[in-house]
Amino acid sequence: MRRLDDPGPLGELVVELTRAPARVAGEHARPAQLAELVGVDLGGQEPDRVEDQRARALDVHEVGEDDDGRRLHGPTDVDDVVPVDDRGKLRNGLCDGGLGASVQDHPERAVLGVLADEHDRAPEVGIDQARARDEEVPLDRLHGHIIALMSGVSREVRLVGRPRGEPGEDLFEIVETPIPEPADGQLVVRNAYFSVDPYMRPRMNDMRSYVAPFTLGEAMTGGAVGQVAASRHPRFAEGEWVLHQLGWREWALSDGSAMREIDPVVAPVSTALGVLGMPGFTAYYGLFELGTPAEGETVLVSGAAGAVGSAAGQMAKIAGCRVIGSAGSEEKLAWLLELGFDAAFDYHERPVRDALRELAPDGIDVYFDNVGGDHLEAAIGALRNYGRIVACGSVARYNDVEPSAGPRNMFMVVTKRLRIQGYIISDHYDRFREFHERAGDWVRDGRLRYRETVIDGIENAPRAFLGLFRGENIGKMLVKVGPDPSDA
Ligand code: NDP
Repeated sequence: MRRLDDPGPLGELVVELTRAPARVAGEHARPAQLAELVGVDLGGQEPDRVEDQRARALDVHEVGEDDDGRRLHGPTDVDDVVPVDDRGKLRNGLCDGGLGASVQDHPERAVLGVLADEHDRAPEVGIDQARARDEEVPLDRLHGHIIALMSGVSREVRLVGRPRGEPGEDLFEIVETPIPEPADGQLVVRNAYFSVDPYMRPRMNDMRSYVAPFTLGEAMTGGAVGQVAASRHPRFAEGEWVLHQLGWREWALSDGSAMREIDPVVAPVSTALGVLGMPGFTAYYGLFELGTPAEGETVLVSGAAGAVGSAAGQMAKIAGCRVIGSAGSEEKLAWLLELGFDAAFDYHERPVRDALRELAPDGIDVYFDNVGGDHLEAAIGALRNYGRIVACGSVARYNDVEPSAGPRNMFMVVTKRLRIQGYIISDHYDRFREFHERAGDWVRDGRLRYRETVIDGIENAPRAFLGLFRGENIGKMLVKVGPDPSDA
């Protein structure tokens, strides 16, 4: 029995034997990620298996005897097997003979090859790594087959231009890079999801704010979750799931800073970027600490069907408030009512001020502001004495070329003795554990529900991000770039 001891550094190898299908392909594999392993039956011994989490991290999986549909085409006669004696070529995905054609015909798929020596024996395996061992196995003892190949390419999204007004997809570039190998003190993560967030839009401008602007020519940074594929870091083990801030890329090399473990058993890993992560925490801190809602009060939430807004509204329900949500489509309004919002309106359909007159004739006590603009002005008008405004964000303003005029009724802040308080959630991580425990309980008992809009493929990340400003998400907007535990 052979084990794939350390599938870590992709990029290395391949290979094996056979009599039957010599070429097996990963249906979802890209040359970047390729890794496929099939059982190799060695004369009655157990088939080879890659059985630990590290293998899963690399998307290594078996292809069974019955999986013919997944094979590109495989010679069933030993004579049809084309020996390939050059591992370097295999690594590059360029095999001679029939294999080369196979690779070119299916560039998006995996490869395989057979390495045979002059005695027509197939040297088994070959992960070119320190711990891997080659074993020789006579062809006639083999009737399984496999292959593994990892071409070692990752992709990342770089910012290549600064927007003026609404950004276009041309400001982003998808770039291939080698999958990194960790040095001492480093680890490599294969991302499953990364987050796209409205706050990233102001960071595209060349203007220092509470956080530095993105650097042109570099990958976009931000929240991401993934599995440790290879580690030479004392704190993080291969196979662990982690949250980090290295953002828009398929594979990330990290020194472990700004990284924490997440437990895939407690909740889906994607929630670490949404309801149980930064957006949920933003809702929690803003609502309870700054909004200070009391039972029976009325709370208005704008951007209510988004990641922060949907959590804030439900938390206000948990606090015993009457909650009104504003959002941009029928489908969103229906979801808000399902979540327990008492009322919801589409701000495209009528002025916010009119909606509030109808839905909150006696006024509101707390306004959780994700949007700014006319929502803020209308909310100031509707707030009762001693009302509170939680100034969380101003997504309606992020694409403005020139700063727009503020609410025209600011004097009401004085006359109504209102409190308006902005905040940046990263200042408050000392409260994260408290949030996480409480929100985890609420999610488990069904009082805090969530949705995610998941866009597949790193090439679609710019579209996903820009979709935030067109209201294309319900709940948290995420980009999926690799397997998550539920794919196993
Ligand atoms: P969302 O999931 O809410 O996505 C953005 C949503 O904004 C869209 O779905 C869209 O919904 C709405 N929107 C877009 N353009 C407009 C517009 N012109 N007018 C009204 N609504 C618009 O994002 P998040 O939950 O991640 O973020 C919500 C807010 O919270 C943002 O302002 C963000 O900057 C802020 N934030 C602040 C933090 C802090 O530390 N203070 C931390 C994290 C987020 P619709 O269809 O309803 O229009």
